[in-house]
Amino acid sequence: MKKTIRDIDIKGKRVLMRVDFNVPLDEKQNITDDTRIKSVLPTIKYAQNAPSKLILMSHLGRPKGSVNPQMSLGPCGERLSKLLGKDVKMLKDCVGSSVEEEVSKMKDGDVVLLENLRFHKEETKNDPQFAESLAKLGDVFINDAFGTCHRAHASTEGITKYLPSAMGFLVEKEIEYFDKVLNNPDKPVALILGGAKVSDKIAVIENMLKDIDFLLIGGAMAYTFLKSRLKGVGSSRVEEDKIETASEIFQKARDNNVSIFLPEDHVIAKAITPTARTRVVREHIPDGWIGLDIGPRTIKKFKNALKGAKTILWNGPVGYFEMKPFKRGTTDIAKFISRLDATTVIGGGDTAAAINALGLAKKMSHISTGGGASLEYLEGKELPGIKALQDK
Ligand code: AMP
Repeated sequence: MKKTIRDIDIKGKRVLMRVDFNVPLDEKQNITDDTRIKSVLPTIKYAQNAPSKLILMSHLGRPKGSVNPQMSLGPCGERLSKLLGKDVKMLKDCVGSSVEEEVSKMKDGDVVLLENLRFHKEETKNDPQFAESLAKLGDVFINDAFGTCHRAHASTEGITKYLPSAMGFLVEKEIEYFDKVLNNPDKPVALILGGAKVSDKIAVIENMLKDIDFLLIGGAMAYTFLKSRLKGVGSSRVEEDKIETASEIFQKARDNNVSIFLPEDHVIAKAITPTARTRVVREHIPDGWIGLDIGPRTIKKFKNALKGAKTILWNGPVGYFEMKPFKRGTTDIAKFISRLDATTVIGGGDTAAAINALGLAKKMSHISTGGGASLEYLEGKELPGIKALQDK
């Protein structure tokens, strides 16, 4: 068991906390979804009330090691000030003497936000000197950035070599839900997978087949599975080099008594556009057409499979939900499971965005803030950002 913020003394200390403020911004740098900021408020408030001096650090986007004002954390600092009802001072950098000086002036209860860690290329390279420069700013390190725990970066892994380290309440909650689903789920368990790529999800399927009862596959990844069963998939997205793997998964599912549900009808179009003319077809997709959402029969079939489930884990939209003609499948499944008496755990990324956009977030048991991190956790991997924290 790893230490949590409750296990270390933070009173009066400088608490250096890694958060994940990698929020989506529009062209005018307005935050379009602040879920990630809100989800670390419990840890932030806990540290403030200790009281302690709280130094927050995060990355935003992929500035690739150079300063890019479009990817400044400024808008996050402003949003956090509003949410806390307290001034959050935005610093101009994340390391160096002027940052150290600002931090030395802090009083108990103060909160500062460092500038984007990835303005320095050393961050993603897990450079030890850079990690040590960051560590100078704190007396203790708290990691509450679940979304980046699968990366061994200076601010997630390297830094733990220099400071007492523990997790915040968000990381604690994330792993609690995923551990429950992996190790001790209420049965029956249904796993819904969708999204663009099969290759991203094979390891999850392989790790989870022994624990689940139903596997429902939608989204573009379904077409690789359907092609392996010799169905016509037209111009749908297929990963040719994964067709063999898909066949093997059918066999492994049989060995583990897992029922696989695949789409049996499809919403198809000739192009992926918001005004595309669509058709619904059963079974085979004609040449020149792309499968972009599960059809009404499949929705019904999926709902039937899900209605008795006690645990549902969902990663990846079942259609190209960003465009109206192809969002019905994802919307209907989301609404349906939100009403079930089951533990519903939603993997991060696009699925979380879809659920948030539908206003259903509060009706799910847990929505992960980490797309890649949640997939790696479900693959059974130990995440480097968590592994590096101190044991209890
Ligand atoms: P992933 O990151 O692999 O979970 O993929 C998410 C993306 O898959 C979303 O942007 C979806 O719009 C996209 N997606 C879902 N279904 C389809 C489909 N049938 N064809 C193409 N893209 C899809």
